[in-house]
Amino acid sequence: MQGLMQNWPLRVSSIIDHAARYHGGREIVTRSLEGPIHRYTYTDLRRRAKRFASASSQLDLRPGDRVGTLAWNTYRHLETWYGLMGAGLVCHTLNPRLFRDQLAYIARHARDRYLLLDVGFVELAEELQDACPEIRGFVLLTDRAHMPATRLRGAVCYEELVEAGDPDFEWVPVDENAAAGLCYTSGTTGNPKGVAYSHRSNVLHALAVNGGDALGLRCTDSVLPVVPLYHANAWALAFSAPMAGAKLVLPGDRLDGQSLYELIEAEQVDFTAAVPTVWLALLEYLERERLRLSSLRRVVIGGSAVPQVMLEKFERDYGVEVVHGWGMTEMSPLGTLATLKPELLDAEPEERLRTKLKQGRPIFSVDMKIVDDAGKELPWDGESFGHLWVRGPGVVDSYLGGEGGRILDDEGFFHTGDVATIDAQGYMHITDRSKDVIKSGGEWISSIELENAAVGHPDVAEAAVIGVAHAKWDERPLLIAVPREGRSPDPRDLLDFLRGKVAKWWLPDAVVFVDEIPHTATGKIQKQALRERFEEFRLPEDSGD
Ligand code: ADP
Repeated sequence: MQGLMQNWPLRVSSIIDHAARYHGGREIVTRSLEGPIHRYTYTDLRRRAKRFASASSQLDLRPGDRVGTLAWNTYRHLETWYGLMGAGLVCHTLNPRLFRDQLAYIARHARDRYLLLDVGFVELAEELQDACPEIRGFVLLTDRAHMPATRLRGAVCYEELVEAGDPDFEWVPVDENAAAGLCYTSGTTGNPKGVAYSHRSNVLHALAVNGGDALGLRCTDSVLPVVPLYHANAWALAFSAPMAGAKLVLPGDRLDGQSLYELIEAEQVDFTAAVPTVWLALLEYLERERLRLSSLRRVVIGGSAVPQVMLEKFERDYGVEVVHGWGMTEMSPLGTLATLKPELLDAEPEERLRTKLKQGRPIFSVDMKIVDDAGKELPWDGESFGHLWVRGPGVVDSYLGGEGGRILDDEGFFHTGDVATIDAQGYMHITDRSKDVIKSGGEWISSIELENAAVGHPDVAEAAVIGVAHAKWDERPLLIAVPREGRSPDPRDLLDFLRGKVAKWWLPDAVVFVDEIPHTATGKIQKQALRERFEEFRLPEDSGD
């Protein structure tokens, strides 16, 4: 017997319809690129997204065409998400921090037809247009008064398009499996690969993210997505916040500690999300200026592992709950969250802390397993580490253009490239990216754990650990650290500090201090660049014994 319920297509336009109809007066606040704070509501956003969607037909675009965006988190950028997706187009977020050649490769590979950009990216776009002949035209996300002189072909002013558009435009009724968004992985190895989210995967993922035991946004929340709209589907917040009717606070291009603090206080933000480097800057600013946070309740941290000192500072010094999350562009992107199960609520503080520092347990709709090199499943004992594989309706099935061939195993799991343990309660803990683990005497050393222990030292701002060649042990760990401003820590003191915090045979064989550690376009430590820089580094032969 068939179910007799309505077949309601899962399209992202339903999310903004819901927000405008049932939370129409809820605000979206932007620190605009022009300077002043801009405020309007979900009703306004939907109306303008419809106008833009209708105007896009004048741009000679057909359903399924890709349109690139090069923009910060602003109301205009968010309008283009809903406008493009609602017009049956594919919103392709480009990361402006990538190298030009990489951006050009991505825009060409995606066959972007138009590019929407903030005024600050005009020069970048001018360079891209020469490398990407298939881009027919450019839309500048600004008003007439702020239109710059540009040699971009067919440059159009966004506000003029919106003004000319129809506010009663009917969303295009695309199939729920049609592509809605496109985001490329950062491609630290090989070329970047395209992940095409469908309307259905975005709606299901946002529902899962809004589960009460997941991020569970509410209409009473004031949500600040510091994570950019162009990074990994904006961690679903562009969908989950309007779905809940939460207030949205968009930071524009000012992501420094002071600007974030001011916005959090002024808009009484209670929920925010970003990578650890952003929070490092905020915490430093708060400490330096001796400030308190009056409204913030929860901060989601992911993209890289949360260091223990960061978690402790937020929770102990500022009363803000840290939710450690893990995910990937290929997973829509959220996979796991480290919130406590009932069994752990009364556990010793140390055990609770250890669990909160893990990457967490899957949200509904994500399934995972760890396997050894031969593909055999490993036990969930919190100790065996192996390759992490995942599956679910928000997980990639294949990359755009079939790059990389078949990427799933026979059970439909996707290889994450991470190495992890899973404990008896189902909490997953990433020990490394598989290409970053340090192989010493046939055993694996976790670079992430060493880094996290090292940044616990009061004189260390940031730390990276890489494996360097060793005659006897194959590889041994080298600790590269950036001292905190005005401090000059002693290498031996740092090693003493690590003693007892990690296994004895994990202790780095050498410590080097540097002024800066290189980061990727999404804030991760560039291990490959460090490995190249320290390729000639020689350890004493008897080290590691
Ligand atoms: P990008 O490289 O563009 O930032 P992703 O955001 O998709 O791409 O990166 C996903 C990878 O980031 C994961 O496979 C994992 O290696 C790492 N990662 C994400 N969250 C965490 C976390 N909480 N702890 C450790 N590593 C993480």
